[in-house]
Amino acid sequence: MLFGKNGRKDDLVVRGARVLDPVEGIDTVCDVRVDRGVIVQIGMNLETNGHRVIEGQGLVLAPAFVDPHVHLRVPGGEDEETIASGTAAAAAGGYCAILAMPNTDPVVDSAAVLGSLIEDAQREAEIPVGFLAAITRGQEGAELTEMVELAEEGAAGFTDDGRPLVAPVLMRRALQYHGIAGRRLALHCEEPTLSRGGQMHEGAVSAELGFTGYPSVAESVMVERDLALAAYEGQPLHLLHLSARESVEALRAAQAKGVAATAEVTPHHLCLTDEAVRTLDSNLKMNPPLRSADDRAALIEGLRDGTIGSVATDHAPHARHEKEVPFEAAPFGVTGLETAFAAINTDLVEPGLVPLETLLERMSAGPARAYGLEPPKIAIGAEANLVLLDTGSTWHVEEAGFRSRSANSWLLGQHLIGQVRLTVAAGRLAFER
Ligand SMILES: [Zn+2]
Ligand SMILES: [Zn+2]
Repeated sequence: MLFGKNGRKDDLVVRGARVLDPVEGIDTVCDVRVDRGVIVQIGMNLETNGHRVIEGQGLVLAPAFVDPHVHLRVPGGEDEETIASGTAAAAAGGYCAILAMPNTDPVVDSAAVLGSLIEDAQREAEIPVGFLAAITRGQEGAELTEMVELAEEGAAGFTDDGRPLVAPVLMRRALQYHGIAGRRLALHCEEPTLSRGGQMHEGAVSAELGFTGYPSVAESVMVERDLALAAYEGQPLHLLHLSARESVEALRAAQAKGVAATAEVTPHHLCLTDEAVRTLDSNLKMNPPLRSADDRAALIEGLRDGTIGSVATDHAPHARHEKEVPFEAAPFGVTGLETAFAAINTDLVEPGLVPLETLLERMSAGPARAYGLEPPKIAIGAEANLVLLDTGSTWHVEEAGFRSRSANSWLLGQHLIGQVRLTVAAGRLAFER
């Protein structure tokens, strides 16, 4: 389900880092040795065996991150991102694997389009990529794709992200096909007649600014519908980019009843509220929109208690000319691959809202499990998927530092705490600074 450049596997010893893998229950200062891309030793004063030595003193070595929600923009949007640039950006963000969304031009709705993306990834992907295919042909919401054939071709899951799956009967049939295809369905929950024309969260700020509101209930009503259908069909599903308190509460209640539902939340929904939109920065315009402080608190609590198991960037690159327009005219979407860890570390971990261990789990094992991927781990015999973090260093976010082809980041000009120093993905040194 994941595809990247094959070949080189590296020999490394990371010496003296705080080795922190919350899933494996490791938190100790020691060395980790990697032979030909595989972790072979974890311990004190390891023999370096002539390998390249990375000094890790004062740094945290953790399982590398998995981003379950990236828009690579290929095919059709190569001016905004490519597999090469998007995976280089992901490596710089500490990721060892990402999943790409199918709302491209053409849409990834056939084995032919998917097959050619897989071939491109095998040539140019700096870290492994999985490709989700569409649930409906052309993402038009009328007719299901050949889900079984697409799964056999290598689809990592199915989604009509960018658009909601409006017809309940199609959602139900997609869940039934999930039982055969066995790849996760991921839902962009938006009731389109309630969100139509919405520029930002419907509330006091939208009223003051005079923007059309996109209410929370436009999301939560679809979350509740999809959870009800998943319960009825006895199938799992994954909820994309939750933004509203009511959605988190519906998910928590469904999980308590045994529904196998997972969910993700973005760095921007965890760090910001609709108050930020007062700046009219078009890099604060996304779908779903930034919501109230109460919604943000519910998202943080959901991440902390595990109701929301994954952080996802929803990295959505846009060309400069598209975003350099008035807020009302700008497209939805912001980038996030290169800033996700630092943004959440700065706004949630540093103030004590979420423990570092929880964030590491929600950025790595959580999303891997949601899609049935092997979770990255620090264990003897595991493929090396590692991130070396300087959790205390402050850096300045600037456009020149991005590997992404696009710079529509809400963090430009800000100082963040926490920096990725090195990423090993699938046994290969994919990034170092
Ligand atoms: Zn979406
Ligand atoms: Zn998206």
